[in-house]
Amino acid sequence: MSTIASILNAAARCEPLSPRAALQLLLETDPAARRDIWAAADACKRVLLGPTATYVVNLNLNFTNVCALHCTFCAFRRGAEARDAYAHSIEAVVAKVVRYRAQYAITEVTIQGGLNPALPVSYYFDLLRELKRACPEVHLHAYSPQEIDFIQQRSGWSLGQVLDALRAAGQDTLCGTAAEILVEPTRRSICPEKIASARWLEIVRAAHRAGTRSTATMLFGHIESPADRLMHLQRLRALQRVTGGFTEFIPLPFIAAKSPLGRAVGRCDIDDDDVLHMVAVARLFFGPELPHVQLGWVKRGLALAQRSLRCGADDIGGTLLEEEISNRAGSCFGSRLAAEQLAAAIREVGLVPIQRTTTYDCVAPFSASTQVSLLPPPWEELTTSEPRRSATRVRPPGSTKISSP
Ligand code: SF4
Repeated sequence: MSTIASILNAAARCEPLSPRAALQLLLETDPAARRDIWAAADACKRVLLGPTATYVVNLNLNFTNVCALHCTFCAFRRGAEARDAYAHSIEAVVAKVVRYRAQYAITEVTIQGGLNPALPVSYYFDLLRELKRACPEVHLHAYSPQEIDFIQQRSGWSLGQVLDALRAAGQDTLCGTAAEILVEPTRRSICPEKIASARWLEIVRAAHRAGTRSTATMLFGHIESPADRLMHLQRLRALQRVTGGFTEFIPLPFIAAKSPLGRAVGRCDIDDDDVLHMVAVARLFFGPELPHVQLGWVKRGLALAQRSLRCGADDIGGTLLEEEISNRAGSCFGSRLAAEQLAAAIREVGLVPIQRTTTYDCVAPFSASTQVSLLPPPWEELTTSEPRRSATRVRPPGSTKISSP
């Protein structure tokens, strides 16, 4: 076994971790050693991306909550007969996006729903087409691999035909959700009806090869083991090495409160420190190969998202107006924040806020005249009254990628 110190020396040079080293870090429980790991992840993030952190101004749009599946961690789904079941018309969805675009200048709409057999397959394509017609400048981050599989099954088309048709209809990127944990049999235990890990990877690989990039996610803090987490990360990294199609990694802490799984296993939400530790190890594991790591605020709150920005994360998520899935699961942090609140939260931890696009282009850098204070990491006491100063690094608006120094 390598020592933690030797692992972190390599990590500080932003060399991606070996699986063995990553597992050793994941298994670390000593608080002092963990703080060293978080500091190394913070340093690695700074080497790759500088003293910045990003957010996106987006609308999360769940077009139906009716779902034929019964994932054990899901508190969002409803049966078709439920009193609060819904399926929005395309006209209603488009009208909402037009309104939000005008009112909040959203740059992205995230579009996901349950697997609702009552919706015709044409709905998926028409929705994209009509949204693109109404708001051509808004990025459509649409559908998970599970939904792609659902569309393919019902259309009778090949996977390639489905992906091409969605792209032609207006899909810009694919949601990397429904990954949950890409390890059988743990995956079978928490979502037995969902597509298998290999199918999820097949769909994402095909999408990347067709030119449709995606996010990558992992649901953690339920019944998975550290070895499961490592295998999940390994599978994502292996795919990234082939396609380079992942835009970011988003670890999603399981919210136990109102889900059947939470009730069944009597599990509470995992500790804040365990969430931060997962973020840090992911940063060190992916290094420059997948340089964006997001802990969104909506599941565990803005304060923890802020702390994650000093433990390896570089993105705090989106304004997520209308977010529903986490709130139904028992998250109590609301469903929307103003862009100014996200920018202020980033500034509070001594970083330069940048509004990004879905694919990490820069929309609006922070003012060049602004100085930021480099605060100590959140696990350290503030021991001086004079915070250290760091140079701000501001990119010009336009096309600059937020991916390298
Ligand atoms: S997680 Fe998605 S597929 Fe699973 S039950 Fe919920 S809405 Fe349906």
